[in-house]
Amino acid sequence: MFRIRAHHLLCIQGFQGYGYSSDFASNLGKVKRLLYEDDPKVAIITDIDDICALCPNYSMGRCKEFGSEVIAMDKKVLEITGIENGTIITFKEAIDKINDAFRGDEKIEKICKNCKWRGVCLFYSAHKS
Ligand code: SF4
Repeated sequence: MFRIRAHHLLCIQGFQGYGYSSDFASNLGKVKRLLYEDDPKVAIITDIDDICALCPNYSMGRCKEFGSEVIAMDKKVLEITGIENGTIITFKEAIDKINDAFRGDEKIEKICKNCKWRGVCLFYSAHKS
């Protein structure tokens, strides 16, 4: 089972190879491929996950660069989608909930307005108003 922090359900969809380091981007690409190919169960959380694991901003069990900011993003995604912290569902079910909740309005800005990757994010470009 994968552990995926809530806002990364948006990032995964928007990812097209960019990231904080080559190890980070390679790991994110691998996780994304496995999620889409195998549709495994995912635990949706507001904490360090399988994508953070190879991020240069990860240190000692936390995100040293964006700490509380990314947790706030995770919590907003949970609020908007109605998913509870710790929920375990299939990846496809998670993506369906995200895409239903973010369809056709300005909610995306509540999550992504300060993200440096917006300009290269497929999810952001598909949902911005
Ligand atoms: S920047 Fe922080 S939240 Fe984002 S992947 Fe890296 S460690 Fe995780």
